[in-house]
Amino acid sequence: MSEVTTVSAPDADEFTLLHRVQAPEGEGREILDAATREVIGRAPVRTITDLDEAVTRAKAAQPAWEERGHEERSALLLKAADAIDAHAEELARLLSREQGKPLNGPNARFEVGGCAAWLRASATTPLQPEVVVDDGETHAELHYRAVGVVGAIGPWNWPLMITIWQIGPALRMGNTVVVKPSENTPLSVLALLSVLNEVLPADVLTGVPGDGAVGARLASHPDVGKVMFTGSTATGRKIVEGSAGNFARLTLELGGNDAGIVLPGADPRAIAQDLFWGAFINTGQTCAALKRLYVHDSIYEDVVSALRDVAAEMPMGNGLDEKNVLGPLQNQQQFDIVSRLVEEARANGGRIVTGGAPAPELGELFYPVTLVADVTDGVAIVDEEQFGPVLPIVRYTDVEDAITSANRLDVGLGASVWGDRDEARKVAFRLQAGTVWINSHGGVHPMAPFGGVKGSGYGLEFGVEGLKSVAVPLVING
Ligand code: NAD
Repeated sequence: MSEVTTVSAPDADEFTLLHRVQAPEGEGREILDAATREVIGRAPVRTITDLDEAVTRAKAAQPAWEERGHEERSALLLKAADAIDAHAEELARLLSREQGKPLNGPNARFEVGGCAAWLRASATTPLQPEVVVDDGETHAELHYRAVGVVGAIGPWNWPLMITIWQIGPALRMGNTVVVKPSENTPLSVLALLSVLNEVLPADVLTGVPGDGAVGARLASHPDVGKVMFTGSTATGRKIVEGSAGNFARLTLELGGNDAGIVLPGADPRAIAQDLFWGAFINTGQTCAALKRLYVHDSIYEDVVSALRDVAAEMPMGNGLDEKNVLGPLQNQQQFDIVSRLVEEARANGGRIVTGGAPAPELGELFYPVTLVADVTDGVAIVDEEQFGPVLPIVRYTDVEDAITSANRLDVGLGASVWGDRDEARKVAFRLQAGTVWINSHGGVHPMAPFGGVKGSGYGLEFGVEGLKSVAVPLVING
């Protein structure tokens, strides 16, 4: 953990982007730096009327955008990716302050780099019409065309990357997009959209910062044909209900509680670093992060101590300090959830290996990396998505029991199996999750489809599947 931090001064461009997007003096809502709790700026607050106007403009702009064709749209999206690169450091700094994640490590700079990479992938992934029948009697082709207006509603944990995941494929396919960023991280998302809009034609991409009611209106708007939603399972359920009204197609990337299973024979020291980042990337505020770890009895204490040793080397503090790789919780609500779950685990016999209490010396919302050993299924820290820097470690003796435990919850975003690759693959096929990683956890690739099962949602993002999911099919028969 870090003591006093030395934070580099902001550069002029950082303020330029902020001033471009923030509300005029005396208006809007104050947004705080997650680490210092100082005011960063003021987010504009839009209403349902503003949202309706944005959708109307997006609808009007859509036919011309679709008319440009794939080649022209792809070229513009590649230019937009270059614009992200050109503003990368300013975006990363604003993101770091608003979200809390450090510049360094797999954090703010990594997220902004990911935005450019995913946008390029959206621009360049080929999607050809498919001849589905050609038997001499019937000739049928499957084509994909734009839905129309896409609504994109996002969370606060990876606000820029997730926005790009939602909008890149949608724009590529000829849709226009209205984005409703999280109330917790509107400034960095608006800054990203403003950078993209240096290149894109007017009204093709609009941001409407507002509360849940604005999100609800966007999801149920009669002129919105597709909703890309990433957030909690509870809000996802409301969006499904809203879609009964407009029949919007949905991609729902919802909450998870990813299990990892460490098989007997795994080498604790060799896997400890990857286990650590699988769980603690973005200080644990990651949807597909390792959130409960099942370790075989024969190596249980070795895994616990190897993880403790890795944790001891990871500096936490203000994200603008180059040496830090872990930051604060983004908001008070999340901080309270983490504090409550750790207290409850302790009261239920959980052994706190490291951490276990807030770190006010670092700032209001800091909670240190916390490893909780000797907990079991049924304790809230295992059963609920903690979404913070805490990892419960559960002991098992029979791998069948670990598989049952991994599958027993009503969510299934990711999972991982650690140990011999062949053995791990056998277990992987039995896990109820959208992705099962082997000897790693949480890595994503722009061409590997990503999505959940059960309460973690439905629909796929990335790659060809991701392009198809923001399109409507057209079969030409004859
Ligand atoms: P949240 O559901 O509280 O909010 C997400 C967004 O929905 C916000 O923009 C919010 O304003 C909006 N919203 C609120 N009520 C709405 C309504 N009735 N209709 C439409 N929109 C509404 O989620 P959060 O706290 O911002 O994000 C954390 C959650 O997101 C965690 O559960 C996490 O696992 C999940 N998540 C999932 C993925 C994934 O890919 N599966 C990725 C990141 C985060």
